[in-house]
Parts: sequence; C-alpha cells; structure tokens
Amino acid sequence: MLSVPVQTSLDEGVPLREVDFVVVDLETTGGSPRDSRITEIGAVRVLGGERIGSFQALVNPGEAIPPFISHLTGIDDLLVREEPPIEAVLPAFLEFARGAVFVAHNARFDFSFLNENLGRLEYPMLDGPPVCTAKLARRVVWPEVPNVRLQTLARYFRTRVQPIHRALDDAMACAEVLDQLLDLGARLGIVTLGDLRQAVTARGRPHYGKIRLADDLPRAAGVYRFVGRDDRVLYVGKARDLRARVKSYFYGDERKKVESLLGEVHHVEGEETPGGELEALVLEARLIRRHEPKYNRRGKTWRRFAYLKLDPTEAFPRLKVVHRAGTDDGCAYLGPFSGSGAARLAKEALEEIVPLRRCARSMGARTRFAPCALAGIGRCPSPCDGGIDPERYGELVRDLLSSLESPDGLLEALEARMRRLADAERFEEAASVRDRIRALASALHRSRQDAWLVGAGHLELVAEGERRLAFVGGALARADDTDVQPISEPCPRERADELSAVRSWLARNPVRLIACDVPLSEPVDGGARIAKIVRWAQENDTERPRATRR
Ligand code: SF4
Repeated sequence: MLSVPVQTSLDEGVPLREVDFVVVDLETTGGSPRDSRITEIGAVRVLGGERIGSFQALVNPGEAIPPFISHLTGIDDLLVREEPPIEAVLPAFLEFARGAVFVAHNARFDFSFLNENLGRLEYPMLDGPPVCTAKLARRVVWPEVPNVRLQTLARYFRTRVQPIHRALDDAMACAEVLDQLLDLGARLGIVTLGDLRQAVTARGRPHYGKIRLADDLPRAAGVYRFVGRDDRVLYVGKARDLRARVKSYFYGDERKKVESLLGEVHHVEGEETPGGELEALVLEARLIRRHEPKYNRRGKTWRRFAYLKLDPTEAFPRLKVVHRAGTDDGCAYLGPFSGSGAARLAKEALEEIVPLRRCARSMGARTRFAPCALAGIGRCPSPCDGGIDPERYGELVRDLLSSLESPDGLLEALEARMRRLADAERFEEAASVRDRIRALASALHRSRQDAWLVGAGHLELVAEGERRLAFVGGALARADDTDVQPISEPCPRERADELSAVRSWLARNPVRLIACDVPLSEPVDGGARIAKIVRWAQENDTERPRATRR
C-alpha cells in the first residue's frame, strides 16, 4: 500500500518557486463523488514555473457514460471499454503525485472524487486543503475577469494550451493559469506556501494595498499591534508566525470589524516572545490592558469585572457586589467575577446558606427600621428591628468567612438543596440553585489557584519545550523586564486577564517546579467538591453563569 502520496506538510514558509505542485484534472460520469465514476485523470507536475512531468490515463468507469457527458468530453463507452479500471490506475497516479502539493481548478471536486475512490479502495486519503486556482483567481484577478471559469482565465492569460474538457489539456491549461496567478500574487505579497494557503482559504474582500505592512514583521512567535494614523493602538493579537498571521488579515476577512480595522490601520508593529506561548499570552493581556484597543473586546470587558465584598468592621455586614477590590482594607473579597451578574449568583448562593441581611440601608449597632419579607420567611435574622445583636450577628459573619476558607459543607448543603428541589419537580428553582453553585465553585476554584500563584513570591517553573518561566507575585517576568510588578491579592481587575492567561495556561501544560519562596499548597477542604462541580459545569455547559439576575 502506498503512503503519504501527496505532499501537504511542507514548511508553510517555503517560497512558492521552490514548491513542487501537481496540477490535476478529472473527467467523470457525473458530479457526485459517491455516485459517479472517474473516466480520465490528467496531471502535470510543475516546479518553479517549469513543467517537469505529465500523467494521463483513461479509466473504464464500469458503468455507462451519460450521452451529454460524452458530448461534452468526447469520452464515450467505446473509448474506455478496453481501458483499465480505477483500481489499476490509482497507484500509478499516486506515484506520479507523490511529494507534491495538490492543485486543481475548483479543487474540491477533483479532490473529493480522488479521496472517495482512495477510501473505497482502502488507500490513505489525500491530506487537505488542496490549492484551488478558481479561489486564487478570485483573490488575485477578479473583478478584472468576468468570472473565474478555467476557459475564461485561460483566455485572459493567453495560455498555450486551451481547456477542452479533457483531463490532460485542462490540467496543462490550469498549470499555466497557476503560474500566471502566482506571478500576480507575488506582487501582492503571496510569496510562500503559507501565504498561498491563506489566500485560497480566506473569505471577504482582500486588502492587498496594505499587505506590505506585514513585510518587516519577523516570521516568529509574538504579539502584533495594528496602529492607526494617530499612533493609537487599534488591535492587539498574538501569533505563532507574526508575518503570516498579519498578512492573513489582508487576504480577506468577511468580519465587518476586521474590514473596519483594516480601513483604519496605518502600520503594524510586532514584538517577538522567545519565552513561548505563555509569554505571548501575558504580553497580549498587558498590551490590551495598557492600550485598551478599540477592536479588542477584552479592552473594555475588564471594567465589568466584579467582586463580592464583606466588611467585617460594619455593625451588621452584608455581602456587596463591587467593581474594585481594595488592598489591606480589612475587608474580605471573592473574585474577580466576569461581571456583576456572576458575582450576584455567588452572593445568592452564600446567602442561601448563611442568612446575612441583604438590604442596602446603612446600619449602625442601634439603627432600627421595619423589617422586610425576608424576616417573615426566616431568611434574615432582622437586625433592623433588633432581632439579633451585633455579637450574635458577628458569629454569622465568621461562619461565612470560615465557609469560604473551608467550603465543603456549604457546597454540600447547596447541592442537597438543589436535589430536594429537583425531587419535588421544582425544576426552575433547582436550575437557579445549580447556577449559583457553579458561579460560587468557579470563583472559589479561581481564587484558590490565584492565591498560591500570587502568594508564592518568587516562583520558577519549566514546561516541556518552554524556557524557564519566572514569576514574581504571580506576574511573569519577561527576559527584558527590569521592573516586574507583582500582582496583589485579591487580583485587581486591571490584571485579571493576565492572571487568567497564566492560570489557564498552567491548567493545559504540565510544569516542573524549579524554585519558589514558600511551599505551594491549596486548601484540602472542598477541593474535590469544587473540582467536581467545575468539571461538571464545563462538561454540561461551557457557558459562563448567566449574567442576569433572576
Ligand atoms: S429583615 Fe431587615 S435587615 Fe434583614 S434584609 Fe430585611 S430589612 Fe434588611
């Protein structure tokens, strides 16, 4: 059995003049790869614009050729009666095509016919994507040509061979069209195999006029910035190959936002991140925070981040949703949450178990006012009418704070409540409790991870294939950082995206600990239950908790 018949894994940075192409055309008995059969295969191999070989074979399809196909192609039953079947032709074709990049006009047709036959005969399939000259023409010469049919392009480029609906002639015409398209494409910046693949898979209107903005970017991993005429950073992104990624925007992207971004961009800046993916993620988060680029959604969302705050110095403290966390102010915080909706869900989860007051009126030890309905249903001990004194209320507050440290019992009680509601077929209420449990468990999960990362002081880790990663107070120290600002606890919302990038990268990448100032640990209590709830939430619903209050 033949293996890897067609080369598709060339280095994407290889110049197109060094790429070995096999340009293919098929004639068939119809349009469906499953129901129709191949009657002729034609192919030419091209390297650096030179034809280096050709292949042509008629195929006995084993079924009658429809008259209109015979009329179109000149291939009829009589012509193929003595020809070999596809199983005899395919091995020779695969040998001819071996090691080359597959090209065809409307390539999906030829590619899927060949793969259908390869699959049926238990050969390995061709790897995609193929290069389609029709798509490339749409990028490069349309609308200068009325359409991108092969006949039209052959006339436009005055190819020596004209397509006549026979496989080899059409393949040769297609190869000439490819050569001309690559010449034109080179002037537009399509110079490597990677560029070509991007150009034929891109959608939307190309912006070739600005493609040169990517010319000075390195072909290396890093972070890029689209900068406007007034030097304002418009967009920040990261890429494994800065030049290829930035170029890909200009080949066409049908997203309206990208159209508008490309209209405004004046130049593009790139910064390499030799420290690997994590360094790129962190640098991207820092730059987005610093510049708040107009086209980065995350440039604005951090302002919506919220916390739960409890001030134990109040006579009758209550949980509040706030948008800023203080440092060393004596208050307890949980968060940041993605928004006040998620914070409110966690607040309701806590209030479900620990009956703190919920009214927003300020209260001193002797403040009195009429209780609300919560007192009547036993959900608040009503300090407002003297139902509880500050000392006994303080015990509730201490209960809540210790539940946040050791949340197993609290989460267990919430899960039991959810089950009771479900058993009683009160499904909407059970779903509300479920959402609250998820919001609370996710916040506890994040804050536990953040606590050891931030609290570790100086921390050094190494992951497979990455350089040694050094952190100071949870902040990644880049090679050129002379003044790394440690992250405080709770993590300020301005740096939440940065810490979140580190947290999620660590969750995906096994690391080896090299050094740290303090022993790393997470509280045991509640750990298994939190992990179970977070996993359950991810498996059943990857969406964030609802951001609206019920
Ligand atoms: S019972 Fe009183 S203290 Fe409790 S939430 Fe209602 S108004 Fe506030």
